[in-house]
Amino acid sequence: MAVQRILVVGAGFAGAVHARVLAEAGWAVDVVDQRPHIAGNCFDHVDGNGMRVHAYGPHLFHTNNARVVDWVSRFGAWVPYEHRVKALVPDGRELPLPVNRDTLAALFGVSLPDEAAMRGFLATQALPCAAPGNAAEHLNSVVGPTITDLFFRPYTRKMWALELEEMHASVVQRLPIRFDTEDRYFPDDRYQLLPRDGYAAIFAAMLDHPGITVSLSTPFRHGMERSYAQVFNSMAIDEFHGCDLGELPYRSIRFHHRASAEWRQGDSPVLNRTDDSPITRETSWHLLPHHLVARGTHCTITAEEPCDWRANNHERYYPVKTADGRHEALYERYRARAERNPRMHFIGRCGTYRYLDMHQVINQSLISAEKWAQAYPRSPVIAVAAE
Ligand code: UDP
Repeated sequence: MAVQRILVVGAGFAGAVHARVLAEAGWAVDVVDQRPHIAGNCFDHVDGNGMRVHAYGPHLFHTNNARVVDWVSRFGAWVPYEHRVKALVPDGRELPLPVNRDTLAALFGVSLPDEAAMRGFLATQALPCAAPGNAAEHLNSVVGPTITDLFFRPYTRKMWALELEEMHASVVQRLPIRFDTEDRYFPDDRYQLLPRDGYAAIFAAMLDHPGITVSLSTPFRHGMERSYAQVFNSMAIDEFHGCDLGELPYRSIRFHHRASAEWRQGDSPVLNRTDDSPITRETSWHLLPHHLVARGTHCTITAEEPCDWRANNHERYYPVKTADGRHEALYERYRARAERNPRMHFIGRCGTYRYLDMHQVINQSLISAEKWAQAYPRSPVIAVAAE
């Protein structure tokens, strides 16, 4: 009998989108995940305080891609939510982040009425650099060392255990400096949304298809692929190869959840810390829409303490992008080897060793799965089951 099924490793966005598209194209798809739950790092649940908590830190959906929004909207309701973040500075004030005109006016006690004033002020701070080669040179050339060393240096050090000089500029460019008073975190994205009933419910609906089976607490084991026509694999590509060329490093995070009788007010659920403590940021879940599911006496606050992935049970969250590209070079060697097997395709953050956002993973996965389904058309899943 011909091998008819597809194996998807990982039930996060990369795996779940592949599974759904391929199932709708008529393939029978088996999804395995080593964790005891679906939804990958988007997994959320309602805790004992009645709060919806994202188990792996706040996931804020934002994109300009209408097709991605249309597609995920098939699996549940999404509500508008514009994310705002504050930075806690040494004198105890909370200032808008990303850095904007209001941030600097408050910090330096100056009047910055318009963009020209902001540019003029930054010109007194910045150290021009023709071709910035790392995050420090980039930031110093835009805002200068004082602002860099307050908002970016300690945070980056605790987040990545690296100095800004060692980091690729693209990492800090996720927070562009604003020359206006815009205080939303993702103002350039037309769609800023959260799933009304949580991410886990979206994933449950996405994986609810007669062509899909899901096996949790089931890690990939070599040899599994022999029963399948194709594997879409979101596990770490170095781990798949036994790390025999060396390990691809990741940052991980320890999440410290605490109950608090003090309910944070305002429009910024996330507070970033500029100090040298091990904590990067804290999330007050009740300030996100539909996250206060049942109100009790206490709210839940989650503090994030970054660490090496090996110190956190090999939980891989963030690929490390250094200025010299050394980890991508190692990744390329694994990729070249993986490409020798066209029946094993690596997907997602860990499969492709890229710092991807949710909308990017969804978009890439839609394209990848549709392309594959077009190349290998199937009759409906009922016919597969009957063969
Ligand atoms: N960053 C920083 N200070 C902050 C917030 C971010 O230096 O207050 C830097 C840091 O290097 C961080 C990167 O910008 O890793 C990207 O931040 P983002 O908020 O996008 O991180 P994510 O939400 O993906 O954890």
